[in-house]
Amino acid sequence: MQLLKRFLITFILLDNVLTNIPKKVFFRTHWVLEGKCKQCGKCCEEIYLKITPRQLSSKLFAKLAIWWITWLFDFILLKVDYDNHYLIFTCKHRKPDGRCGNYFWRPNVCRNYPLVDYFDEPKVLPGCGYKARLR
Ligand code: SF4
Ligand code: SF4
Repeated sequence: MQLLKRFLITFILLDNVLTNIPKKVFFRTHWVLEGKCKQCGKCCEEIYLKITPRQLSSKLFAKLAIWWITWLFDFILLKVDYDNHYLIFTCKHRKPDGRCGNYFWRPNVCRNYPLVDYFDEPKVLPGCGYKARLR
């Protein structure tokens, strides 16, 4: 099972790299990040994953999505935010000191945090080592 997970994650990581390179080269964002990760683990306490209202209204889809994410990423469902359409997870690999216990195989949602959108200012948690600035 572990091998299958790693095989799937490798494809997802490759997809992430291949998508991010053209984005960086051809579609420059208004905002950039400065600083570096302090490995405090705050962003691993509650991981908000967006889901569309339609997806959330399907019990089967929502169950499958939660199963897939918990199985593949070793996340643990904390709650479902029905009002704002988020699945909220924490992670089995977060160590007591906040460090990641699965750093090499961490999923894209972890690699891409803090997410830099095209126009909106990136949302950074208080105390995070990154800061957003306009180009
Ligand atoms: S909150 Fe920021 S500094 Fe802390 S682990 Fe996440 S990315 Fe790193
Ligand atoms: S895999 Fe690592 S970086 Fe990602 S949420 Fe879990 S502990 Fe945090």
